[in-house]
Amino acid sequence: MPDFPTPLVTPDTAPFWKGCQAGQLLLQRCAACGALRYPPRPMCPQCTSKETGWVPASGRGTVYSYTVTHQALHPSLADKVPHLVILVELEEGVRITSNIVDCPPDQVRIGMPVEVVFHQVNPELTLPKFRPAGTA
Ligand SMILES: [Zn+2]
Repeated sequence: MPDFPTPLVTPDTAPFWKGCQAGQLLLQRCAACGALRYPPRPMCPQCTSKETGWVPASGRGTVYSYTVTHQALHPSLADKVPHLVILVELEEGVRITSNIVDCPPDQVRIGMPVEVVFHQVNPELTLPKFRPAGTA
């Protein structure tokens, strides 16, 4: 069975993935206007500047939206349904697509506080996931 496809690491996204490997959620910030953005990309959507930097995020946010998928959309998910995909609004105002862990599907709620946790997929890739806040 093939593994679930992993994100493609590009020059624009590499700092984000290196941050995850180090246990830190990093956000791209425009060096010209200061706007935060996600996913990482070469140009600021606010001012079109290509000057960029990285800042650590708190890793805290709330569930902005979610979906519970009962169909295995990829063979590697066959034993992992229902599969939860969430859109988290970070405290910094940026929204990030991820999964929620340590939370039964029927307990996910819009607005619920969540915090980032890091799941190592392989030595080169660590994914940010989220769990209900305060469930360490
Ligand atoms: Zn900008």
